[in-house]
Amino acid sequence: MLITEKFHSIQGEGRLTGIPMFFIRTNLCNLRCKWCDTTYSFSGGHEENYQELADECIASWEGWICLTGGEPLLQREAVEFTRKVCSSGKSVLIETGGSLDIQPFTLIEGTVIDMDIKTPSSGEEKSIRMENLKHLRPRDYVKMVIKDMADLDYSHKFIEKYLMGNEVVFQPAWGTDPAWIVEEVLKRRIPVRIMLQEHKYIWGEKRGV
Ligand code: SF4
Repeated sequence: MLITEKFHSIQGEGRLTGIPMFFIRTNLCNLRCKWCDTTYSFSGGHEENYQELADECIASWEGWICLTGGEPLLQREAVEFTRKVCSSGKSVLIETGGSLDIQPFTLIEGTVIDMDIKTPSSGEEKSIRMENLKHLRPRDYVKMVIKDMADLDYSHKFIEKYLMGNEVVFQPAWGTDPAWIVEEVLKRRIPVRIMLQEHKYIWGEKRGV
């Protein structure tokens, strides 16, 4: 697998915020979101044997492994890696941009999927693989980054049309005032969680945390 970096930290965003995890950040991404905060994962990286990497994850103290990117689903051995780690009893959170097939991962016991639905401010809203929606399980969740009112309108309509019953997290884009998003969600009664990027409040935009 092509790896950008590995580090031990707490989960900084989404429904599992605050949980200690061992992060495996893969290299390469097929999207180019305008507000991407991990552009350093677009190139470079180093090759690691997926079985040895899985053994390292199994030996780590954390109960959770976060497979993130870039786009981790681009890695040819990501399914085998995930299967091996999960077979040890550990849980694997997979953070994906939502444009590639999630089903091979939802079939593995012990995974949780954090799937982005890209909003208009990303410039990648057409990248969504709609078939993925039917593979989401109750334990999985969808994340939508909200930067402006156009994002909120888009997300609101998308939820009403496709995601009633799914857990959805609204994440204000870094630098966006969350207050108006909270007010708008309450006014419109949109059934979502609004969650900030905890790691950035602790460490700013430092890499590898
Ligand atoms: S999918 Fe993630 S890693 Fe890829 S460009 Fe978008 S924000 Fe960056």
